[in-house]
Amino acid sequence: MPIQTVAVMGAGTMGAGIAQVLAQHGFEVRLCENQPEALARARAAIEAQLTRAAERGKIPATLVTESLARLRPAGLEQAASADLVIEAVPEKIELKREIFQQLDRMAPPATLLVSNTSSISITALAAATRRPAQCAGMHFMNPVPVMPLVEIVRGLETSEETIAAVQALAARLGKIPVVVRDFPGFVSNRVLMPMINEAIYCVMEGVAAPEAVDEIMKSGMHHPMGPLALADLIGLDICLDILRVLYRDFADSKYRPCPLLQTMVAAGRLGRKSGRGFYQY
Ligand code: NAD
Repeated sequence: MPIQTVAVMGAGTMGAGIAQVLAQHGFEVRLCENQPEALARARAAIEAQLTRAAERGKIPATLVTESLARLRPAGLEQAASADLVIEAVPEKIELKREIFQQLDRMAPPATLLVSNTSSISITALAAATRRPAQCAGMHFMNPVPVMPLVEIVRGLETSEETIAAVQALAARLGKIPVVVRDFPGFVSNRVLMPMINEAIYCVMEGVAAPEAVDEIMKSGMHHPMGPLALADLIGLDICLDILRVLYRDFADSKYRPCPLLQTMVAAGRLGRKSGRGFYQY
């Protein structure tokens, strides 16, 4: 049976974006969030985004109200009765495992459980359930309505049917699914974070200023954005967390987080969200 109802756990940056794209593409969306303010913020952000898209002629005006009508707040039990649940709560393994366990207990046997984690092992989350074959990763990129990629993560026990179902779902959302195996950082962050880390080493060692490092990567390597501007956008604390996962899980010094990154995070210079990172905002 094709997936029709999707629950999204967590209505933060990613959950709101995922819910919007699902509703826009005709899915019934159950949004499960434990902070009422976050739920209200998400709804307002989705409405504003859709309205802007309609004003610019990118989507028909009728799609705004139709999409909003498909979005419903839900408790855990209602979330668990969807055809598929996408978990997008904060990047904390204990929290995610607990949610997977609770959903597994409540959900009908056919329900698929997927996580939007950036770095936590899908195999470890699946092991908290009695349905590891029906668990997978769907790693959406930020901002979800704009970025085409969904990195589909195959855990050790994930079945071919589950992979096919989540690939088909991503395609129905107009996204480009790419399947990878469950390894630390998957592919996206395993390739991106060492580049960002190396750019920070260049700044720390006085090889070049942030503007120069970014200009080299933009006009020399055709990157749309320099690695340091991108790190500021992602959040330097997030970059540090992911590098720590890579460093720990591979036990390889090539992923050692740059001391300058650690110092900046300790100082509260987190990038755009704090007003200052490698650049001032
Ligand atoms: P966020 O902090 O913006 O949102 C998380 C939301 O989950 C919050 O609103 C919080 O109140 C809610 N929440 C916490 N516990 C909950 C529970 N038990 N039930 C329901 N809701 C709960 O975080 P985010 O940036 O949206 O990240 C979410 C996930 O997506 C993380 O795993 C992160 O690694 C991943 N991710 C983030 C990005 C990014 O750029 N922000 C990109 C790709 C993947």
